[in-house]
Amino acid sequence: MRRSLIITSSLALAGVGAALLQPPRIGLQPMREATAAPQSQPQGTLSAAMVATTAAAACAKPKAVKLADAWRTCEWDGKSKKPVACAKYGPVLSDRCTAEATRSKGITIDYDHFGEVDCRSNDRKDAVTRIVIHNGDSGDNNNENWKCRPSAAHYTVDRDGTIHQHIGEERTAWHAVPENHDTIGIELEIKRKYGGTCNSLPNLSKTAAKYGIQPEDVVADLCAPSHRQYEALAKLIADIKTRHTIADDGIFGHCEVQGTDHGDPKAFDWARVGARQRKAINACEWYLPVAVRTTVVGMMPKSGKTWIELDAGSSSQVEVGDHGWLENANEETAAWFVITDVEADKAFAIVALPFSQMSDNLAATIVAKPGNTPPALGAATKPALGSCETDYTYHKTGTIKSWTTGAGGAIATLTLDGVGWKHRVCDDATGLVYLGASGDTYVTDAAGSKLRFRMTKVDETTAVAQVIEGSLTEKELGANRRVVVRAKK
Ligand SMILES: [Zn+2]
Repeated sequence: MRRSLIITSSLALAGVGAALLQPPRIGLQPMREATAAPQSQPQGTLSAAMVATTAAAACAKPKAVKLADAWRTCEWDGKSKKPVACAKYGPVLSDRCTAEATRSKGITIDYDHFGEVDCRSNDRKDAVTRIVIHNGDSGDNNNENWKCRPSAAHYTVDRDGTIHQHIGEERTAWHAVPENHDTIGIELEIKRKYGGTCNSLPNLSKTAAKYGIQPEDVVADLCAPSHRQYEALAKLIADIKTRHTIADDGIFGHCEVQGTDHGDPKAFDWARVGARQRKAINACEWYLPVAVRTTVVGMMPKSGKTWIELDAGSSSQVEVGDHGWLENANEETAAWFVITDVEADKAFAIVALPFSQMSDNLAATIVAKPGNTPPALGAATKPALGSCETDYTYHKTGTIKSWTTGAGGAIATLTLDGVGWKHRVCDDATGLVYLGASGDTYVTDAAGSKLRFRMTKVDETTAVAQVIEGSLTEKELGANRRVVVRAKK
């Protein structure tokens, strides 16, 4: 049994816990991510169901300690509401002794900020059964920001693979309201690039045009974890699983949390953490790309450029036409490419770099392009897309399959084909009925009103819409069977 081994190491490390009071780091640039309102949980004693391992019993329950280091002013981002600052970074209630004593071998944790944002957590009442993945800032910046904002996660994994622990797992951190009670939150630092965050994306089309890439490439480059982050995250999840029984399907994204408006993590390759791709739940934007981190396994010169062979693993997401980029160990982009061929577990591309400039340590990322329906999604798991909060510049043409009539024989509802969520049509999308099989003239009634509708039900490829403007009978509709629906880009 693994746990008895852990107990042995706990005894050796039991004395280390007292050394947690590191001076806080000050004044780092904020990059706002989760706004997770606090749960109103009463303070109390730990449930026996919690992490009460024998190892933990060797550690004394931490006494509340206030960190009285340098203080900072919390400034709200332009709104009148003033944030409530953590009182002098504390009190620290997280149990570092147990955290260290029960840690797996082979994983290194940075405890520099341990406990400093405990004011954004409560004593835990329920056993941990799930892990929530977020996009966010670096461990240092998160720690600083959370002192001024009612939110925090247990861990941050920096882009270089450093794992920071902010809050003890025995505490409920405010990272994914209303699902904090049985979850551990892990933030993944995003790239500082393109002037946006993964919950507040930069203008994708403008940014893409500026850099000569595609909008999905911007999302992938900005949000996808680095190679080192994935490695560290896998270790951390394995480590957490030695202390808690994580449910099947228990690793999921902030965007899947009930009622959330957070879309993170984006471009995340769920296969890397052994989780299912479930990007169509709540605020998850399933049409956005998955950045598949991979390696160059072969290369040769080709007319002044370089032909490369990439290990596409078992990913079924990579297709001909997908974009990708090569980068060095510092995540500096060397060149972009387009996949020209896919064979079993290999993908091929030509990079506009001479062979002499190719180095062995270039890693590759393939952007599985948007619009492809994730394989895990079938009609049974139709996404509730919620409101179309982004732009409506993309339009999808569909056809009218059937209709119902209401008062005076006017058309009341339309059943539409070819405009389902598979076509990126939101469940509150609106659209117009057009004349004939092609052409741009829309249908109007006797009063000159357009026949406009709004979706009431969107399935994978069909939708039901209610007429909201115009009044037309079946006869007046005539042979018009074409509709155009606003969809997400
Ligand atoms: Zn989040």
